[in-house]
Amino acid sequence: MIGALTGDYVGSIYEFNNTRDANFPLIEKGKEITDDSVCTIAVADAILSGISYGEALHEVCLRHPHPMGAYGSGFFSWLHSRKPMPYNSCGNGSAMRVSPVGWAFEKEEVVLAEAEKSAECTHNHPEGIKGAKATAHAVWFLRHYKNDLEGFKRLMSEYYPDWENFKKDFDSFNSLCQNTVPLCIQEVVRGTSYEETLRNTILRGGDTDTNGAVVGAMAGARWGVPSSLWQAAYQTLDEDLRMIVDKFLRKYQVVG
Ligand SMILES: [Mg+2]
Repeated sequence: MIGALTGDYVGSIYEFNNTRDANFPLIEKGKEITDDSVCTIAVADAILSGISYGEALHEVCLRHPHPMGAYGSGFFSWLHSRKPMPYNSCGNGSAMRVSPVGWAFEKEEVVLAEAEKSAECTHNHPEGIKGAKATAHAVWFLRHYKNDLEGFKRLMSEYYPDWENFKKDFDSFNSLCQNTVPLCIQEVVRGTSYEETLRNTILRGGDTDTNGAVVGAMAGARWGVPSSLWQAAYQTLDEDLRMIVDKFLRKYQVVG
């Protein structure tokens, strides 16, 4: 979860202005957390408070109606609807917000059931649900078995049998789960540290803040997050968001 918020922060300014600079600074003025982090913190709030994921997303996101990067149009309409209904999305929003589920629950089957619940209030398309389950499962697996890379690859193949062959042109912008999640799996498998994995992911262009959030969630579970990086992201959180994060990190002993 720390990894997701940090990945979102690091990728934030490149979402609409991708970078090819292999040495881009990870911490930089102008970077801040975006909608991805607000939604992630809303999922954490649901787990802490026991309200539904949909209610928590409304409460937290409506307190932060215009985050950097802005909410996707479908989510924005859902947020402001008098009668919010799932809208069959398979956008990567279900994957980018799910990481707290992978930290809060111990039993594998509970992680999967909660991941599905966290997605289905908006992203009830099968690929939207799959993206959330795969990401939460990855976080759960890597925090328990960080050295079992072969096991991780096998597990991810159950969701995306062809993940190793996923290709992305630098200039293509695609924000669907079925693109973001395989790309992030590839980078976590080939990376050797949190920073390197996040950097390599952002250098592939496209939806950099959300790709950063998803790969950051997985990489944080595998390697942890350097505290200077996490502190840079944390500094950009508003007070109410910090309170939820602090409570969640303490309660579930989150370290990545
Ligand atoms: Mg964003």
